[in-house]
Amino acid sequence: MAQLLVVEDDERIRTALIRALRERGHVVSSAGTALAGLRQAVEDRPDLVVLDLGLPDLDGRELLRMLRAVSAVPVIVATARDDDDSVVEALDAGADDYVLKPFPAGQLDARIRAVLRRAAGATDGAPVPVTVGDLTLDPRSRRVTHAGTPVELSPKEFDLLAYLATRAGTVVSRRELLSEVWRLPYGGSDKTVDVHLSWLRRKLGESAADPRLLQTVRGVGVRLAEPGS
Ligand code: CA
Repeated sequence: MAQLLVVEDDERIRTALIRALRERGHVVSSAGTALAGLRQAVEDRPDLVVLDLGLPDLDGRELLRMLRAVSAVPVIVATARDDDDSVVEALDAGADDYVLKPFPAGQLDARIRAVLRRAAGATDGAPVPVTVGDLTLDPRSRRVTHAGTPVELSPKEFDLLAYLATRAGTVVSRRELLSEVWRLPYGGSDKTVDVHLSWLRRKLGESAADPRLLQTVRGVGVRLAEPGS
């Protein structure tokens, strides 16, 4: 059971979605506009947001960017546009997963549970905390500290950092990251990876021009390693 926020302007879809998710045991609140959704996401602190991309007042991706500036809440995007570009753009903007409309409620529920499982750290994978330089990452609690200070990451940012941390010192290609972290083995663009890397860098207090832990190897990929190594 989770506390969910559904942001959807189509009343018919919204009502059906709320009912279906409540039947599956979730506590559901809703908003019909992007701005109301943003306000509720901040005030109600839901466990996860289901976000329609086509909203009347703001594009859902715009909302996502605004939301990401203030919150690391997991977001699943629902889109009627079944072109790769809008999905990739939503992932670039910080979505953790997506569903294509029309989708069965069971599929959305399965994705909600998967995203929440990841967010709760109930994944398999290395249960042992990893330390790289002054960065410590605990896969179980999904907590990250940098020089002793907690760093708040979105689920996808955490997944990306964790993937690199368990391969510390090794250069990982963007293609591998798209396949393993984003589950986009055939699609996606390098920009998706680069955008998230730039967010991670900012949160770790570094930049591409002055890298410390996150080191880009031109033409090959990126590695997480101790500064100066
Ligand atoms: Ca809509």
